[in-house]
Amino acid sequence: MTTHFVIVGNGAAGYRAAKALREADADAQVSVFSDERYPFYLRRQLGDFLSGAMTLQEIVFQSRNAYRRERIDLFLMTPITSIDPDAHAVEFAASPPVRYDRLLLATGTEAVRPAIPGRDLAGVTTFDTLTEAADLRDSLKAVEHAVLLEEGVIGLTLAESLLAAGVRVTQLLAGERFWPEALDETTSGRIEALLEERGVVLRRKTSARAVIGTAGRCAAVELADGQRLSADLVACGCRRRPATRLAQGAGIEVGAGIRVDETLHASRPDVFAAGDVAEPAGTDPSAPAAGAFCWQRAWAQGAAAAASMLDHRPHGVAEAVRIRTTLFGLDLAILGEGHLPAGGRVTVHEQPDGPDVWRRLVYRDDRLVGAIILGTGESVHELNRLVVEGAGRERAEAVLAPPEAPEGEDLVPTTFARHCPICAAELVVHRGTREGAVLRCHACNTDLVVCWDGRHGWFEIRRP
Ligand SMILES: Cc1cc2nc3c(=O)[nH]c(=O)nc-3n(C[C@H](O)[C@H](O)[C@H](O)COP(=O)(O)OP(=O)(O)OC[C@H]3O[C@@H](n4cnc5c(N)ncnc54)[C@H](O)[C@@H]3O)c2cc1C
Repeated sequence: MTTHFVIVGNGAAGYRAAKALREADADAQVSVFSDERYPFYLRRQLGDFLSGAMTLQEIVFQSRNAYRRERIDLFLMTPITSIDPDAHAVEFAASPPVRYDRLLLATGTEAVRPAIPGRDLAGVTTFDTLTEAADLRDSLKAVEHAVLLEEGVIGLTLAESLLAAGVRVTQLLAGERFWPEALDETTSGRIEALLEERGVVLRRKTSARAVIGTAGRCAAVELADGQRLSADLVACGCRRRPATRLAQGAGIEVGAGIRVDETLHASRPDVFAAGDVAEPAGTDPSAPAAGAFCWQRAWAQGAAAAASMLDHRPHGVAEAVRIRTTLFGLDLAILGEGHLPAGGRVTVHEQPDGPDVWRRLVYRDDRLVGAIILGTGESVHELNRLVVEGAGRERAEAVLAPPEAPEGEDLVPTTFARHCPICAAELVVHRGTREGAVLRCHACNTDLVVCWDGRHGWFEIRRP
């Protein structure tokens, strides 16, 4: 009998799962439901699309025809409104329910708009879908000044792409420093310096009291002290929560996200969850970094969920990386509890690793529980493994010690991980790989050339 796999959400986790299910089971029926209007696109690169560095054809990674060719049934602009786990069915507002044998919830996160007047005016963006980015791109010529209300990955992305498009940017900071919930003081300071060097105006210890509109469109932001900043664009997508509404309505166990075990199985039979919406066992929901907003983790969990749905053993469920992004060409990675201050059982080892790399390692009872890196992300792959294992200090230090001199002039001296420039899948280059070697991306099959300049590694696309 044909198995029907139903996936809710067509982001990194949902798309990856659909592909993996199709590859593993040629006979299965695979249905993907999305409430968006575009097929799978590279959400983490919305900033590149906004600045014009990527075209629509480049950011939309999989055409509708490609889904048809792979016999994945894609339903766009088709929100699922509820789930009936007893009947094994998903339900819609205006069409009959669809039965599933196995269901994957890959619904990601949703923005929490601040509770202030004017938050829904035109020109106030959460900048989290391609539809929003496309609308914004079309109207960007009319934007002179943007105000970013909150701190986080989306704000950083927007700041960089708006500056590139010639827009003046003001970032509001709730406290004295940038994003204290996620970053230590030094990393905050370095990011503030980077933003200010590029022309972003930081307004510290303030927040928005209202967005003021003219003819239904935002025109200014009123600050807590009553001062007004003119603003023809206001961004507020950084505060996010896992999109758990469907799961909650179906009586599926939810904490900060949908609670799943080590196989990504949720609390009802044949229901799985993966990506930003999932809360794997062992996560402390009260920890400030409990939620994840991470493409790499969602991608890995999509593949792992597919394995579980096929009754295979999943790999890659445990990922310590919570945030991994780039800012003006620098990598920023936050792993596990990398933000924790020193004190009590927690000790911190701060390691300026050369002028352009800042590394902060956090140990609890001498076990590595988190890290923050700003600079180059070569060690993120190793660190991820060490944090997941809870490696002891001695082992962590040995693994992270500066690499020995290369054995051959054209051999890469250290293991490093980078994203595929096409699909952003994480690829690892092992120490001793020959510079110029060609590596094939496991996710999108692009041939990539391994490059190394003596300090940093990266990929270039191999042209025929
Ligand atoms: C501007 C921006 C920049 C980012 N930059 C980075 C970065 O630099 N690095 C990084 O690691 N991550 C970044 N991210 C985050 C990254 O994109 C997410 O972590 C990743 O997309 C999570 O994948 P997911 O599959 O779990 O969820 P999502 O990609 O959020 O996909 C979930 C999908 O499910 C759909 N959905 C929800 N409910 C329903 C329903 N009831 N019915 C049908 N469909 C539904 C949603 O509309 C959405 O399309 C960025 C995100 C944004 C918006």
